[in-house]
Parts: sequence; C-alpha cells; structure tokens
Amino acid sequence: MENSPHILVIGSANMDMVIQTSHFPSPGETIIGGDFSLIPGGKGANQAVAASRLGGKVCFISQLGKDLFGNNNLDNFKKEGIDTSQIKQNDEQPSGVALITVNQEGENTIIVAPGANHFLSKEDLLKAESKFAEAEILLMQLEIPLETVLAGKKLAKKFDKKVILNPAPASDLGEEFYKGLYLITPNETEAELLSGIKVIDEKSAHAAASELASKGVENVIITLGASGAYVFSEGFKGIIPTEKVKAIDTTAAGDTFNGALAVSLAKGKNLKSAVVFALRAATLSVQKLGAQSSIPTLEELS
Ligand code: ATP
Repeated sequence: MENSPHILVIGSANMDMVIQTSHFPSPGETIIGGDFSLIPGGKGANQAVAASRLGGKVCFISQLGKDLFGNNNLDNFKKEGIDTSQIKQNDEQPSGVALITVNQEGENTIIVAPGANHFLSKEDLLKAESKFAEAEILLMQLEIPLETVLAGKKLAKKFDKKVILNPAPASDLGEEFYKGLYLITPNETEAELLSGIKVIDEKSAHAAASELASKGVENVIITLGASGAYVFSEGFKGIIPTEKVKAIDTTAAGDTFNGALAVSLAKGKNLKSAVVFALRAATLSVQKLGAQSSIPTLEELS
C-alpha cells in the first residue's frame, strides 16, 4: 500500500503451543486436553502482525533462535509483508516459546520461555537507526530487556518520533520509562501494578491513569476487556465502550488493540478515533481462537 504509514515495532517473537482444556490442571494434576495448535505469537510479533494487517508498513526489530521455530517465524513475518531486515537469528539461544492453555470460558494461562528475546540489545537498535528515521511511530512492550526498551525510547526521541509503550507483562518501571512517552496502554491488572490503584470502574480508572500521567507520560489508555477502554488525554477523559460479543479466546486481544492503535495514530487520527478503531479490531479478535490467527485484516473490519 503506497500511503501506508511506517510503524516500527520492537519486541518479542515466540512460538505459541496452545491446548484447549475443560479446566486448568492443579499442581500435580495431569488432564487430557482437547485440540493442540502451534501458532506464531509473542507480544512484539503479534503487534507487528496486527499493525501490518490493519494497514501499516511495519518494520519489526526482534531476535529469534536459529532453529525450526525461528525459521518458521521469519517466513511468517515475510508472508505478512513485514520488513524483516532487522530481525537477528541468534546462534546460541533458542527461539522464545509460550505454553498456553485455553478453557471453555475463553480464559487462558500462559508460561513464556523467552530464549533469544532476552538478548535483543541496544546494539541491535543502533544498527536500525534508519528505521527509526523513517517511522511515524514506535511501538514497544516489555517482553525484552528493560534497558533495550529505554534505548528504543531514547533513539525515538533523537528522531522526534512518538512512542507507545504497552507495559505488558507489567514490571516495576522507574520514572525514566514514563518521561517523554506519548502513550502508555496497560490493561486493568497492569494499571493496578504500575499505579497502585485497583481499576474496577471509571472513577478508579481515572485515578490510576492520572497517577501514571503524573509520572510524565502524555496520554494513558487502560484497556478494560469487555468494557472497552478508558482514555486519559488532554482533549478527552472517559470510557469508550466496545460492542458486546461472545468471547471465544481473548489471547492477543491487547496486542490487536495496540497494533491497530499505532496504525490509526500514525495515519494522523486523534486519540479518541484511534481508540474506536482499535476497539473494533480487538473485539473482532476475541471471537476467533489463537494469537496471530485471530488478528483481523483491514478488509474484515470494513
Ligand atoms: P490479552 O492479554 O488477553 O491479550 P489484555 O488483557 O491485554 O488482553 P483486554 O483489556 O482484556 O487486554 O482487552 C483488550 C481489548 O480487547 C478490549 O479493549 C476490547 O476491545 C477487546 N476485548 C477483550 N475482551 C473482550 C470481550 N470479552 N468482549 C469484547 N471485547 C473484548
């Protein structure tokens, strides 16, 4: 697409091994599950795929292992039309993997073995300076080393680019992470961990978002699952609801939201319209099984 905005995503790539189950096993318990599937995942990869399917020209900076899963992921990114020139295959570390179980209510449990993702470094980013220069927006998460995330933020500042941080999985972040960020996008649990305020309704979402904004980030969006998202910006503060649907699997709902948001903002939309677009994409994704397999294309949204 000729006038697609450039989006730079820095983050993790995993291979997800997913088993359907009637219930989650207790410690020491073995249960016979349902269907098994092997699906490319990882928050960085999911968000890169979401941004690409939803109309962005995406460059993804990541590290894979030099193994079957790594080769598979690389082929997959190419098929998705993602620029893979900054993806390194590490000779010594395995590709990241995630063991995922999904119950009949669509809830999941996830254990991640990060492998090569934990070796994505500042040097890998410095080699990709030209990609920072051409991007409209940078999107990152926290499945890579925190110093790499900080390095990404600094490079984006050098080129005067907006940064979206999806603080997942939540981690104790120092003030230096918030200063100069355009937007932070925690879910309810992450917002509580980062702000110390439990998010249960609009009032508490507002309090948690104000607390995060006071640390120096310009805008805050707290995703609220079936209730939509709480937006804290200069122009608008409040909940934007989403459509009521039957959720089959919420894996990658947050990733779809963030990828969609990045594309819409990079196209110059204001935060409120970008959130409406991101909610539509994410809510569509929960009606399908899996991580990347559930991320919609632009055509499916129209
Ligand atoms: P996950 O970790 O499962 O990928 P998340 O916890 O990061 O997701 P959520 O706040 O659960 O993020 O959801 C992100 C977005 O996905 C919501 O803002 C909403 O648009 C959509 N969504 C999630 N769950 C539902 C649901 N049950 N019904 C409709 N939309 C949903």
